[in-house]
Amino acid sequence: MIAKFPYDNTFKFKREQLIEKLLMRPELDRKVIDAMSRIPREIFVNQTFINKAYEDSALPISCNQTISQPYTVAYMTGLLNIREGYRILEIGTGSGYQACLLAMLGAKVFTIERIKELYKETSRLLTELNLDHIHCLLGDGTKGYSPKAPYDGIIVTAGAPKVPMQLVKQLKIGRMLVLPIGDQKTQRMHKIKRIDEKNYEEEILDNFKFVPLIGEDGW
Ligand code: SAM
Repeated sequence: MIAKFPYDNTFKFKREQLIEKLLMRPELDRKVIDAMSRIPREIFVNQTFINKAYEDSALPISCNQTISQPYTVAYMTGLLNIREGYRILEIGTGSGYQACLLAMLGAKVFTIERIKELYKETSRLLTELNLDHIHCLLGDGTKGYSPKAPYDGIIVTAGAPKVPMQLVKQLKIGRMLVLPIGDQKTQRMHKIKRIDEKNYEEEILDNFKFVPLIGEDGW
């Protein structure tokens, strides 16, 4: 896959500074940070906030949603341990930045967004960028996307009240579902590994703050 990114040299220095900052965090995966260094985040943010594109913070995007903080994106992606050719399901397309990172790591990505306007806007952007390994879908992601299941990994980029069991069932045995779970203000990252047909193992990690996962198995 050869992405067509419009690089703007204005942001080169700021991008490098952010990457250096992320490299100082030992818990983050170097391979993931390297892929992030090749993605111009400024094209995924709301253009009103373009000068903040390389601050390590979440930023507003269309429809009252957010593009996640770069640290959070790197952290969650690292937990999935992506390999070339993995089929990954993302719930919460938002700006498309996370999906782009997964694709840059060699994954084939299915990403679901529930807000139609955002889905249209982001699918258009990803097509323009030639990111043909990303398939955008519109709907309630808490139900997953069974036509392409089982997945090598599932990532939920909105805060859930509990583990959405329909998602666990769409994972391959031995693979991971990564999602924030908590109340609507703060959540803890959960890494859920499917052990066999009926069982899963759950690891509870650090605190984060996401917009709510809305839907049948969400809020
Ligand atoms: N991954 C995104 C990015 O890289 O910009 C960040 C996503 S934002 C923090 C969370 C997104 O999840 C929002 O766009 C929101 O509309 C979406 N969302 C919430 N509940 C959803 C659901 N049940 N199915 C699909 N998308 C959902």
